[in-house]
Amino acid sequence: MLSDNKLLKTDFCVLTDDVVHNNEIFRKGGEILRNGGLVAFPTETVYGLGANALSEEAVSKIFKAKGRPQDNPLIVHIADLSDLESLVKKIPKKAEIIANHYWGGPITIIMERSDKIPASVSAGLSTVAIRFPSHPVATALIKLSGVPIAAPSANLSGKPSPTTARHVAEDMMGRADVIIDGGSSFFGVESTVLDATVSPLAILRPGAVTREELSELLHEEVVWGGGDGVPKSPGMKYKHYAPAAPLYIIESKDPVQVINSLSDEKTGVLAYGIDPSEFTAGVVFSAGNTPSEYAAHMFYYLREFDNCGVDKIYAVAPPPGGVGDAVRNRIFKSAGGKVICE
Ligand code: AMP
Ligand code: MG
Repeated sequence: MLSDNKLLKTDFCVLTDDVVHNNEIFRKGGEILRNGGLVAFPTETVYGLGANALSEEAVSKIFKAKGRPQDNPLIVHIADLSDLESLVKKIPKKAEIIANHYWGGPITIIMERSDKIPASVSAGLSTVAIRFPSHPVATALIKLSGVPIAAPSANLSGKPSPTTARHVAEDMMGRADVIIDGGSSFFGVESTVLDATVSPLAILRPGAVTREELSELLHEEVVWGGGDGVPKSPGMKYKHYAPAAPLYIIESKDPVQVINSLSDEKTGVLAYGIDPSEFTAGVVFSAGNTPSEYAAHMFYYLREFDNCGVDKIYAVAPPPGGVGDAVRNRIFKSAGGKVICE
């Protein structure tokens, strides 16, 4: 972890309607990335903390700034399909079909790593995770940097991923060279991580691109990876997305009654599919009525609960299937397995 006496001066840059102003920010951001600095920027999933993926020294700064364990590999971001070829040993046919269909977009594909990518990016694995985002700020920065960009979520390790630049600033002021404010992230959960080195293809982390959609595209079943209890995606074994207050998932036919019986003015509630006015707790946020709405708001509210000073949080989860799988994966990890069934 970065010690306090080594804090950087962080520029917080707000994008506006002025194209010239914005292009100047992208140009400077691209230059900082190329020269080994850290730039936090919006993507369509969550905010990323970027560094030059070809530079071991630049990449080591990401691990330091986030306090990220060295054995948790990073996703490499590109902004042109033609950049993929030199980063991997080969492009499997099915990976190509998925990339052509979903890139730029919220899916990461794992392939065999070429020697161009330093081993530390992949935590020593022979594979590398690649994504081509759709967010215009992300793609402008990557293009102008002229290099592939390693970019995990721009939060301190273990905390909820940031979906606004303000939440990035809470964790990364003094740790990143630049934070670019480009508004709220659209999907709100990190990319789907798909392992294309195995057959059948396996999802290591659910996201906005669902298992059902991928299976339909390939005309064959895409499976869940790491099902034998050993997570294949190294990052999945760590504490994740945790707000400061303890979070409990409520599984009940009558969540309003259960939660109200446990609530007081210092309690936070994340409601789903229920009118928030039915809850008596001090702080009630609504995650909407669809899994996609839940995904878009979940990390934002988990961080806001901390800012409101609640001492416990109760959340209602959506059912499994589709984007619900991505939400459940994150919210159950946020709860650290604490589930109340009544
Ligand atoms: P984050 O950067 O925080 O969104 O996390 C990236 C996720 O992708 C983590 O769960 C990593 O373990 C996973 N990941 C990255 N590279 C690989 C890889 N080569 N093999 C398996 N999982 C990976
Ligand atoms: Mg992350």
